[in-house]
Amino acid sequence: MPSQRDDCLFCRLYREGDHVASTKGFVAIRDINPQAPVHLLVIPEHHVDTFRDVREIGGGESHRMLEFIADTAREAGLEDYKVQVNVGPTAGQTVFHLHWHVLGRKHADSEPLHASTEVTEL
Ligand code: AMP
Ligand code: ZN
Repeated sequence: MPSQRDDCLFCRLYREGDHVASTKGFVAIRDINPQAPVHLLVIPEHHVDTFRDVREIGGGESHRMLEFIADTAREAGLEDYKVQVNVGPTAGQTVFHLHWHVLGRKHADSEPLHASTEVTEL
């Protein structure tokens, strides 16, 4: 059974947040303080404090989690995007329930790239 914590914000948002996408065991929500035109958070139902403990989620579920991140980005209209996990306070983690930031802009809104090596700032 996935573990949940009564005092955890993301455990609560898993149960009763405004989900933009969901599958069994995983949801995506909009970040309340977006750092890009599209900024989503993918949250597993199972409470683990940080990515350091990802082993607790198990191999099959971790694979499904990665596929859900890619599916969520695609369904949000993102082609190129960043996936980020902050691990620990000095790396910027502020909520201690594993989550994946998905940051980008919809393809139609992107500036055309002028050189193949150019990286678009998200
Ligand atoms: P991190 O700093 O990597 O732990 O990411 C936590 C993220 O959660 C930040 O980007 C916050 O803006 C976001 N956040 C905090 N509270 C909420 C909330 N109630 N709903 C949506 N996103 C939130
Ligand atoms: Zn939690």
